[in-house]
Amino acid sequence: MKGICISEHFNRMERNEIAEFLKQPGRDYELFRLAGEVRRFWCGDEVHLRGIIEFSNHCCRNCFYCGLRRENTKLERFRMAPEEILHLSAEIAGLGIGTVVLQSGDDFAYDRSTLCSLIKNIKKRSDLAVTLSIGERPFDDYRAFRDAGADRYLLKHETASPELYTRLHPGQSLKSRLDTLRFLRNLGYQTGAGNIVGLPGQTIEDLCDDVLLLGELEPDMASVGPFIPQRSTPLAGEIPGSLETTLRVLALVRIVTRNAHMPANTAVASLDAASGLERALQAGANVIMPDFTPECFRGRYTIYDGKTHITPERANAAIAYEGRVTGKGRGDSLRRGFSLATTACDMETLR
Ligand code: SAH
Repeated sequence: MKGICISEHFNRMERNEIAEFLKQPGRDYELFRLAGEVRRFWCGDEVHLRGIIEFSNHCCRNCFYCGLRRENTKLERFRMAPEEILHLSAEIAGLGIGTVVLQSGDDFAYDRSTLCSLIKNIKKRSDLAVTLSIGERPFDDYRAFRDAGADRYLLKHETASPELYTRLHPGQSLKSRLDTLRFLRNLGYQTGAGNIVGLPGQTIEDLCDDVLLLGELEPDMASVGPFIPQRSTPLAGEIPGSLETTLRVLALVRIVTRNAHMPANTAVASLDAASGLERALQAGANVIMPDFTPECFRGRYTIYDGKTHITPERANAAIAYEGRVTGKGRGDSLRRGFSLATTACDMETLR
């Protein structure tokens, strides 16, 4: 390993190198060690907490894998009132967590003005960074939310295969998802992309494309999680994605994106309740998102079955176990002012 310059070599991984790492379990030790080094160098030891509120499970889309899909008639739907979301945001801020993530199905019952006043009220009453994860909306909505004070937007690209994307998302396209991501970035949002690993029909080549795409996009945040079937979807009988492959993809994305914020996400934790968070932190993650959705709604936000509940205590235990530290402040993007030229020299001194 000595002599290898992370900034010069590993952000330019070739497709065949990525594929080799994905196919050869014998190279996991090497892969995770490298990802750990890249993470430490570019992101440090801080793990940032983001408090997530899943405020509505209504959705107008019909994604094949997701339990919130509109054709799922078995789901008891809920919507939280803006006042309740505000109250929970205050709770998150009170715990010293710097970010609230507002996530929902694509639910247009929350119109532009409702969401704008919610965002403004959160910003008025706290120093929280506000991340939206509410799917695809008219571009004017994104502009209005940004003007109201929203800081970040999570919109996973889900899969880099245009064919698989079209098959799993009726009426939607990968191209428009990526156009939306670019638009969000141009509005000044810190943007998050990411993919699902182990989708039925997905190949190793598709996963290589995900890694390469995330390397090209250079998102501020990147979330990699396994596919987990949900019983009331067309993919109910399919096998879940492999945790091992997911962690490999996570590590590769860490290497190619260098300083993107990457969560040890709930889907990873759901496949391995005992040590999923810890293993993701080892593979290159530097964010955990404890869930503040009230208990009465939590069980109904069934994007997949067997979704685990991450508390701030559980998150902090994983951070301490890994010898890392809980981040202070908002944990904004590490990308701003990013310059490869100067960091290449830093890398030389490090080694
Ligand atoms: N409506 C928003 C939020 C969707 S839920 C949007 O479209 O962005 C957030 C994420 O959950 C999705 O981006 C997807 O990656 C993930 N997800 C949904 N169903 C899943 C499943 N069955 N297995 C794994 N991840 C899933």
